[in-house]
Amino acid sequence: MKALIFIETKDGSPIGTSLELFTAAKEIGAEAVAVSVNGKEGVLEEDLVAAALADKAKAENAELILLSATTLGKLVTGRVAGRLGGGSVNDVISVAVEDGKVAVIRPVYGGTIREKIVVQASPAVISVRGGSYEAPEDAPAAETIDAADGDIRTKVVELIEEAGEAVNLEDAAIIVTGGRGMGDEENFQLCAQLAEALGGVVGATRPAIENNWIGRSHQVGQSGKIVNPDLYIACGVSGATQHVSGMMGSKYIIAINKDEDAPIFSIADIGIVGDVKQILPLMIEEVNKRKA
Ligand SMILES: Cc1cc2nc3c(=O)[nH]c(=O)nc-3n(C[C@H](O)[C@H](O)[C@H](O)COP(=O)(O)OP(=O)(O)OC[C@H]3O[C@@H](n4cnc5c(N)ncnc54)[C@H](O)[C@@H]3O)c2cc1C
Repeated sequence: MKALIFIETKDGSPIGTSLELFTAAKEIGAEAVAVSVNGKEGVLEEDLVAAALADKAKAENAELILLSATTLGKLVTGRVAGRLGGGSVNDVISVAVEDGKVAVIRPVYGGTIREKIVVQASPAVISVRGGSYEAPEDAPAAETIDAADGDIRTKVVELIEEAGEAVNLEDAAIIVTGGRGMGDEENFQLCAQLAEALGGVVGATRPAIENNWIGRSHQVGQSGKIVNPDLYIACGVSGATQHVSGMMGSKYIIAINKDEDAPIFSIADIGIVGDVKQILPLMIEEVNKRKA
């Protein structure tokens, strides 16, 4: 089977979760061709990527097209499948081949159930959740391709309003997340201070966002972002299923909660029972001291 891999880039470099797709292709014995797509001013990015990938997949006779399940990746899968008459599935955690067909597994209902889907149409256009595979140390370079002008179906004619602050939680190595237990907007800043000291980014639970302590783009979970950092620090977070389903791919989890029975402790590598208002300042001070 031939697999076309879309390497998504940020500031000219491949994002880590795209590189994991090489391992997914290798594990099913697929021959992999990797591409990234040149930008074009005034063109909707998802349409540009979909057009370029569909052209390339046709030229390569690819039966499988793999993308990372980022915001862009998830928008592109259906468009590519639509152009090629294939089938698409988003946010899978494993890819296999059964009787010549692509079979995938993805979590549903907030991660409480895993469903298996065998894609009947070809090509199968699949977005893979970050952290599902290890990225190879020596990933081959991707070819950069353009979309043909005639393939672009939608164009951006005017930007009416900034969509708000962009935050790349999906590709962050360290995330410090604050929940309702942070108490108020001022205390929530402790999460930002620890994130800054560690060189990470700030995440939030839904209540923290509903309280306007931080913008919606920081939400982690079922209706927010799916993240897989090396280190996830959950501060004043209870560990509700809808939150945990978005961060359970984290490699190392530290939880701080004043309730020793909080469900978050059952998935944490280190649990600290205590008040975030006392513990976070100590952590910030210690990290800054060690950095100095
Ligand atoms: C359809 C649907 C989708 C949802 N999607 C999401 C989603 O994407 N992301 C998400 O996060 N939620 C989501 N939710 C909400 C989710 O169900 C929970 O309500 C939410 O995750 C709880 O957030 P929390 O842990 O901040 O708050 P709580 O559950 O209220 O927990 C606060 C925790 O802070 C601790 N605490 C309190 N004070 C302190 C202190 N001083 N020091 C230390 N600990 C303290 C408490 O012991 C408690 O465990 C969704 C819900 C639904 C129904």
